[in-house]
Amino acid sequence: MDEKLDTELRRTDTVMAAMADGLVLYAADGKILYINPAAERLFALTSADAPAEEGLRNVSVFNANAKPIPPEQQPVARALGGEAISHEVLILDGPPPHPRRSVSVSAIPIRGADGNVDRVVATFVDVTRLQQMQVQRDDLLRVVSHDLRTPLSALLLQAQMLQRSLPPGDRNAKRVNTIVANGQRLAAMIRDLVEMVRLESGQFQLARKPIDVQTFITELVERLAGTLPTERLRLSFESRLPSLLADPDRLESVLANLLSNALKYSDAPAEVFMHSSCAAGCVGITVTDHGVGIPRQELPHLFERFYRTEANGRHEGLGLGLYIAALLVRAHGGRIEVESELGKGSVFRVHLPVDTEVAAPVPGSVSAPG
Ligand code: ADP
Repeated sequence: MDEKLDTELRRTDTVMAAMADGLVLYAADGKILYINPAAERLFALTSADAPAEEGLRNVSVFNANAKPIPPEQQPVARALGGEAISHEVLILDGPPPHPRRSVSVSAIPIRGADGNVDRVVATFVDVTRLQQMQVQRDDLLRVVSHDLRTPLSALLLQAQMLQRSLPPGDRNAKRVNTIVANGQRLAAMIRDLVEMVRLESGQFQLARKPIDVQTFITELVERLAGTLPTERLRLSFESRLPSLLADPDRLESVLANLLSNALKYSDAPAEVFMHSSCAAGCVGITVTDHGVGIPRQELPHLFERFYRTEANGRHEGLGLGLYIAALLVRAHGGRIEVESELGKGSVFRVHLPVDTEVAAPVPGSVSAPG
């Protein structure tokens, strides 16, 4: 063998042996030609398992919903048939010494000169710990969000009744108001958590209806008048706005969040502007405030889960409002953008396609890795 090729092969071998992820090379008939140490560890193979296929004989393969996958539908078999597999999560289980493992598999067919598949390279990443953590996180969020809601609602109801029953000027009014305000903040945080879990698990459907934008926004602002200083809002509408096909509750949640932030992060008497227009098949709804603004370096993270900016020091929520808003806008096939300058104010813009029959998938709804 030529010396250069030999050195190259040895180098490749060292790299594959050092890889943290499992790597297996299959021949066209499914025989294992090469298996790196990480894959041997993952499949609990020992020197007694020669050939390696022997050690894998008793390992059962399930999909992420714990349904058995027949041999011909398993990723490597499909790759041998010419399909490229990317980050498919499987559960592997077998009698000792094979522990139950969640594994993310990618498999690429390699074709020979005749165009037929003559090799498959597959990588196996152990995602067991990651999956366990995700399940624990979702369980915890579910418990926190649902079990906290009931006692809090009872508490809030009593506090509001007390608030209404106090005569004007009562010296306890301030205390009761504080209880109600903080109870409402807590309730809003729990509502965000519940909505986040629902959206991320994909357990939601948009109930779309034709919506007249001007009527919808005008009525929304009237409804918000009890909870937000809406007298600072200035609404404007381009004439002849087309109707939207959107879920009114979800659209309300998006717009209420933008309005509430704009009012929260700008001080009275500064006005907040909401303008609706139409361009390029989209209705654009813009919320502009002249408040504290957002540092430029934080803008790319604003729509991330639990993200709150460092600078303005007015933390009241969990940093989920804009994350949820972005998920909902994308589920409608639209997009959300922000422009801002520190100390000068912010502009949030929502674009919603006028005629969206098909919703785009919600990014982030799959919590599986890869
Ligand atoms: P929360 O649900 O906690 O209110 P959001 O996701 O709505 O959080 O907002 C995330 C962060 O973005 C907030 O912590 C706030 O600092 C910042 N932010 C949002 N809107 C504005 C705005 N109009 N002006 C300034 N900062 C804003």
